[in-house]
Amino acid sequence: MNLGKYSIGVGDRFTYQGKAQLRAIMKANEKGLNITPVWNKSNREHIYVGTVPADTRKEADEAVKALNFTGAYFVDADHINLTTVSKYVEMSDFFTLDVASFIGKESSKEEVDAFVESCEKYLGELQIPRMDKPLHITKELLCEIADKFLAATQHAAEIYAFLIQAKGEGNFITEVSMDEVESPQTPVEMLFILKMLANKGVKVQTIAPKFTGRFNKGVDYVGDLAQFAKEFEEDVLVIDFAVKEFGLPKELKLSVHSGSDKFSIYPIMAEVIAKYDKGLHLKTAGTTWLEEVIGLAVAGGEGLELAKKIYENSFNRQVELCAPYADVIDIDASKLPSVEEVNGWSSEKFANTLRHIPGHTDYNSNFRQLIHVAYKVAAEMGKEYTDLLVKYADVVGSCVEENIYDRHLKRLFSI
Ligand SMILES: [Zn+2]
Repeated sequence: MNLGKYSIGVGDRFTYQGKAQLRAIMKANEKGLNITPVWNKSNREHIYVGTVPADTRKEADEAVKALNFTGAYFVDADHINLTTVSKYVEMSDFFTLDVASFIGKESSKEEVDAFVESCEKYLGELQIPRMDKPLHITKELLCEIADKFLAATQHAAEIYAFLIQAKGEGNFITEVSMDEVESPQTPVEMLFILKMLANKGVKVQTIAPKFTGRFNKGVDYVGDLAQFAKEFEEDVLVIDFAVKEFGLPKELKLSVHSGSDKFSIYPIMAEVIAKYDKGLHLKTAGTTWLEEVIGLAVAGGEGLELAKKIYENSFNRQVELCAPYADVIDIDASKLPSVEEVNGWSSEKFANTLRHIPGHTDYNSNFRQLIHVAYKVAAEMGKEYTDLLVKYADVVGSCVEENIYDRHLKRLFSI
């Protein structure tokens, strides 16, 4: 199975926007692109929302059928591990093996030695084609990288072996993710992580490292753009080298778990992948949930009332809602509007405050991040929430479509 050169993981917390998301992708494909849609959903999201993997499969199949989409598409079991993978086997054909929690776990001396030995030929100055400077590889560095990542790649190999058994080789896409950690992986670490995966026979097709900088939920990238650009470019070159040198699948590409809306790095990524004629997978899932709230606000009436109620609940439960996402949000509580103030807002004011248009006078990134992590509030509302998604499907759907097409795909693919 091949994911194709360009693919986007649109996710969808509540599984009502599959068609709107696909419309946006098809609109880009009409402009000459060939973007593969992926509906990704993590175990945590399923648990919070109360959905099961079959719901995501149904959403994807129905959207594809309704719009007569003839390209490839996938359902991604996002961020799974050996304990959570089994319930996704039947419905998913894309698996994101999240091994971040195994980083730094101990491996036996024999395993470390065997890995270091397998890298003997790279000791000294290693010139990756088209990279500015050669990498300086020492035994100490290899041991250090092995101590950090060997157990994590071993866990990936175990999940992969389970999937080969359960689904058969070639019947699923394999992603390995290490993005949900504090410190970024450097290009040289990535090189040897790929070597470990190759040694263990994991036919990885996308890899999601933690990049430098902050990837806060729902808002733009915060960090050094030049540093990001350098690292991203080196990662692309390292992957190209690893594919040829270690015999990994030739379609192997980077997967960027964006945490939604990293607009300022989109043109950088676009430039690098165009320069080297490489592919990219981008996950930007939570952005659709925010468009649902924006859509409800725009719809007015009951929709606006519910959007305000979601904010009230989010505001009053900040500590609880933010805790699981503490590492990936930066909310300045003093800049959050009061519940009373928001209750007095018009549709326009609410939507403009939440909608991600950097530079807009009403846009408030604190407000946006808080609602981003508060989808649990809507999940608890159950039918009260989803009935309004149905009632205002046209308005909400056009917000979702416009967001994916205008703010994401246009920037990412220079449309
Ligand atoms: Zn991730």
